[in-house]
Formats: sequence, structure tokens, C-alpha cells
Amino acid sequence: MISLCKIHDKIESVNVSWELRDILKNKKPSKEEVVEVFVFKVEDGKKTNKYSYFISRGEVIKLGLHKGINTIELLDRDKQKKELNDRALVVKIKNNLAPICDRCFEELLRVIGC
Ligand SMILES: [Zn+2]
Repeated sequence: MISLCKIHDKIESVNVSWELRDILKNKKPSKEEVVEVFVFKVEDGKKTNKYSYFISRGEVIKLGLHKGINTIELLDRDKQKKELNDRALVVKIKNNLAPICDRCFEELLRVIGC
């Protein structure tokens, strides 16, 4: 389903967490509220691809991760070695994503200084 940003009237095509989406839609978030989670794909014990998700500080705490960290690194499962690594957390984050528009995403990147 395609949704339009109510602020910018643009198609929402970039995913961030639900809570972060709410924060972005309601006020300008502070840097402290945004946490970037890096997920590494792992093949046979070696990190291959890296991708990232943006979530809120509140969600970091809900996921049981330490609240002091600004970036988090997780390892996805290793199919060859049959190791789950941080798969459960990765799935929780993936299941909790919502779309925002490019302009909202630019705003988010500005906040964290990218
Ligand atoms: Zn927008």
C-alpha cells in the first residue's frame, strides 16, 4: 500500500521504526532520540553486507539493549554455520518498520549529522 506523507505530500518509501516515525511526524527529534542499528550479514563466519535501520532511543530500551549507545551493531544469522547470532533482535526490528518520505528522511539525517 502506498502512503503519502501528510507533511510533505510525497510518497513514503524509506523505512524507519514506528516510534521514530511518530517522533518525526510530531516534532523535530533530538539527536539523542535517534539510534542507528547496523546489521551485518554473516556467511560462514565472515561479515559480508552491512545495512542499517534507524530506531528510537525508547525502542533500544524495549529491545533490552543498553540505553547509552548511539550506534548498535548486530550480526544476522549465519546459514552456513547454522548460528542464529542476533537474528531474533534483527527480526524484531524488521517487523517494527514504517515508511516515511524522502524529505522526512533528510530531516532525520540532518538531526544525526549525516
Ligand atoms: Zn515527509
